[in-house]
Amino acid sequence: MEYQFSLEIIYLIASITYILGLKMLGNPETARRGNLIAAGGMTIAILGTIFLYNGEIPTLIYSLIGIAILLGTLIGWLVAKKVAMTKMPELVSIFNGMGGASAALIGLIEFHHYNGETLSIITILAGIIIGSISFSGSMIAWAKLNGTINKPFRFPKYNLVNNLIFIVLILFSAYIAWSGSSSQLYLYILFFGALAYGVLFVLPIGGADMPVVISLLNSFTGLAAALGGFLYGNMVMLTGGILVGSAGTILTFAMCNAMNRSLVNVIFGGFGDTDLTTGEGSSTIKGSVKKASVSDVAILMNYSQRVIIVPGYGLAVAQAQHAIHELEQLLEKKGIEVKYAIHPVAGRMPGHMNVLLAETSVEYEKLAEMEDVNPEFANTDVVLVIGANDVVNPAAHNDPSSPIYGMPILDVENAKQIIINKRSMKPGYAGIENELFFNQKTSMLFGDAKAIIQSLISELKGM
Ligand code: NDP
Repeated sequence: MEYQFSLEIIYLIASITYILGLKMLGNPETARRGNLIAAGGMTIAILGTIFLYNGEIPTLIYSLIGIAILLGTLIGWLVAKKVAMTKMPELVSIFNGMGGASAALIGLIEFHHYNGETLSIITILAGIIIGSISFSGSMIAWAKLNGTINKPFRFPKYNLVNNLIFIVLILFSAYIAWSGSSSQLYLYILFFGALAYGVLFVLPIGGADMPVVISLLNSFTGLAAALGGFLYGNMVMLTGGILVGSAGTILTFAMCNAMNRSLVNVIFGGFGDTDLTTGEGSSTIKGSVKKASVSDVAILMNYSQRVIIVPGYGLAVAQAQHAIHELEQLLEKKGIEVKYAIHPVAGRMPGHMNVLLAETSVEYEKLAEMEDVNPEFANTDVVLVIGANDVVNPAAHNDPSSPIYGMPILDVENAKQIIINKRSMKPGYAGIENELFFNQKTSMLFGDAKAIIQSLISELKGM
């Protein structure tokens, strides 16, 4: 009884750390600390569960738990340490898949312990379905993000088939629950059916939408974990699951809003397949492209008063965050006002640019959000677009047939001079051309972002 009370207190403290941690993740300045606080809460919750358990645990089981924790910690730590910022969505996808798999496995193991208890059986079956979908869906999302699956798979009438499979899964689990069946075979049919649905659900979705899908699957994993918490009457599992589930749902809708697309359009739309299949785009925009040299751009910047830098995915690929910070500091020393314009979906995951720039200690006040910075472009002498493409594409305003039509963009075309750095004329993730490159005020500065910025710095230092 005493043990139980102290365990409840530990769970309460852990739940508070999750809520606090989540709140602190909302600001780059406190995010790191928030993450540590929530991880600390998770650690005491795990240790409390193991050592204050109100029952007999054989030594062998203790040893197995110890080995699993050690192995998991080591692998997680090594992988997270080594992963490049550009590969972060893939890592999130794998970790999320593991959460879903754990929830499904709990259901498979617990099914026989709750025979005849209809509410618990419903909870277990729901956990198996949702956890399995989350696991297999996350694995497909991972394979799509890293290019292992680089072609869209669309079977004839796939939407209809997928919906039918889902309905059959629900009806079948209702049958298992209400018949009171304890058939192992039925359970495995449900498990493998849900795994297959997860694969079929994600396969037709376009590569560019994978971060949204991962966020959605993340909310599924949270829900599956919350169901586990409900089953065991475990408050910390319930709180953690609900927080992950609701945060994942909010993030999913926030990303859809930033791209001005509905979740239905993301799931059924097939946006962004082109980049993964070809990486090329046939030129349909008429006009000529003006090239600039590094010294042209250095001179232009040296005589400017206000410069806005627009970072995109290419900045992350080139690992040019430290170089851009150095350029910003150099310009500021010369009395030029510099800001960064951050689009909410620039890069490949939410907050990608904020995290990247925070890593180099760029002052947080220098990061301007899209709504705040858009009116300022008209008073800007030079806008320097580094490895960004879709998020500055005016087709979002002008071309109703464009897949990004309606997506809010950074209005860089209003600036006095536009410099665009990228390596070629290839399109961005949405796989579409950008008429901004052909604008009279635009000059293209071709080359790798890091090398180009470093050359710009050397030129500017000599002026
Ligand atoms: P884009 O993918 O549109 O463009 C990035 C550009 O960077 C490419 O055109 C590429 O051109 C260039 N590039 C790549 N490597 C380098 C390099 N080493 N040096 C210089 N340039 C380089 O990126 P944006 O950030 O503009 O847009 C993000 C896209 O991702 C949007 O379509 C958005 O909807 C999508 N997305 C984002 C999500 C998020 O949460 N952030 C979620 C889902 C989708 P080149 O090959 O010629 O160099």
